[in-house]
Amino acid sequence: MKVNSPLQVYKYLPQTNCGECGEATCMAFASHLLDRSNKIEDCPPILDGKYKKKYLELSELLASEIREVIAGVGETAVKIGGDDVLYRHQLTFFDPTVLAYDVSDTMSEEELVGRVKKISEFKKFYVGAFLKVDMVAVRSTSNDPSKFKAAVKKVTETTTLPLILCSFNPEVLAAGLEVCADRKPILYAATKENWQQVSELALEHKTPVVLFSPGDLDELKTLAVSFKEIGINDIILDPGTYPRGEQLKTTFENFLKLRRAGIKEGQKDIAYPIMATPITSWMVNEDPVTASYWETVLASVFTVKYGDMMIMHSIEPYALLPEVHIRSTIFTDPRTPVRVDPGVYEVGSPTKDSPVIITTNFALTYYTVESDISSNDINCYLATVDTDGIGVQASVAGGQLTAAKIKETFDNAGFDFKEKTSHNTVILPGMAARLQGDVEDTTGLNVKIGPPDSGRIFGWMETNWPPK
Ligand code: SF4
Repeated sequence: MKVNSPLQVYKYLPQTNCGECGEATCMAFASHLLDRSNKIEDCPPILDGKYKKKYLELSELLASEIREVIAGVGETAVKIGGDDVLYRHQLTFFDPTVLAYDVSDTMSEEELVGRVKKISEFKKFYVGAFLKVDMVAVRSTSNDPSKFKAAVKKVTETTTLPLILCSFNPEVLAAGLEVCADRKPILYAATKENWQQVSELALEHKTPVVLFSPGDLDELKTLAVSFKEIGINDIILDPGTYPRGEQLKTTFENFLKLRRAGIKEGQKDIAYPIMATPITSWMVNEDPVTASYWETVLASVFTVKYGDMMIMHSIEPYALLPEVHIRSTIFTDPRTPVRVDPGVYEVGSPTKDSPVIITTNFALTYYTVESDISSNDINCYLATVDTDGIGVQASVAGGQLTAAKIKETFDNAGFDFKEKTSHNTVILPGMAARLQGDVEDTTGLNVKIGPPDSGRIFGWMETNWPPK
């Protein structure tokens, strides 16, 4: 992206503030183009012929350094790549690493369906949202087109997740496409041996395609240039993922070289998303737990540097949980703390005798406290103070959590202690104990000091509630 301020983008917009894009002003639209929550095509006037030049210029200016490839259709479609920076703190990372899990065409129907259901139904609630996985990779271990076609058909009947069709045999890929081309799957993979036939399939069906050249970046670049020349732009690069030893080190270095070439050196020929295949751990580790362990280690490494998508095998919770959590952490936007709306929330069914507990609006703090309270069946009011998304200890030290802010939270929520409670008392987090006097003076409430972490609220309640 070669523009970085709303004012720079605004110059290319029609500047009529007509509101057709759903934004009140062109400037607001411009800022949402920069954070990618809007796309240029959401502004109908700019698509009018008289703005064509500006539309094309702006499209070029807003294009990400690494091409963004879209696979799948509808709500489960995934965006792959799309990054502009090498380090997250320079801006943010866009498009979280897409996680795909494999099935094969030699599985029994029961096994295949059961596995696909497990993949598509996996979810873990974390900081206000569900962490999920994204794709199913259907591997042809039979190398039989009819078997592959039947397996792909069964997968499409079982899940709406997008697919990766995996075979080096173009006939097998073609058979899979017969039953799922309309779902815009990814073809895996084109190599120096099969690239002509696979490129024809990708062109005909307009599907993204992975180029595979293990350990040979020059050959990978040659393939990418050839595909681009024949009009295929939705390209993903697989430089090979060697699962251990010196070759793993080389793999890691290849990922760095590709991403630096695409972003820092501006080599457009190779500025495409990169794919890792931690599943290769299963080729060198016989013990399933060891294979799964190293697969997760590889997935973690290439989530951090610079795998835009990856294929794994293990769908056990001990593999999926670290994989989705690491991805969530790496792709958190550093420009905006993860926060919840300030206010006074009911947890369970509070009565006049229920406690009123104070916390901050840092999402991780809020959801941890809320989870500790609700899982112990404690009915209460949970007051969430606007600390700019900062946790308790840091916001007390930094002055974001104050007696005035606490009073403001109750005032803004219209929370009347005399009407809502029989005790006129709030509970401060243990780490905010030093605010006790201030809060008493500012609010006129009784203040009790809770435990230093919310995991101990249940035990604390047994001896401290109701207040004497
Ligand atoms: Fe401006 Fe286009 Fe939005 Fe109208 S639709 S307000 S011209 S950005």
